[in-house]
Amino acid sequence: MVYWVHIAHSIDRAMLHRERCAEVPSNIIRTDFWEGGWFDYPDKERALAAMEQSGTTFQIKCPLCKP
Ligand SMILES: [Zn+2]
Repeated sequence: MVYWVHIAHSIDRAMLHRERCAEVPSNIIRTDFWEGGWFDYPDKERALAAMEQSGTTFQIKCPLCKP
């Protein structure tokens, strides 16, 4: 399963989502990791590692899809 990480530096937050979460936009615009945006990972471990690397204060799991 693919996991998505949404990094939002403006609100100092990274959020983990499952592949089919309704919150994940259908048209992902590829952006630079350090600028933030949506990033997909092939497993949960890598997604969690990416959240840590993002340097955001709030690293949370989506309450909707509960990854
Ligand atoms: Zn979600």
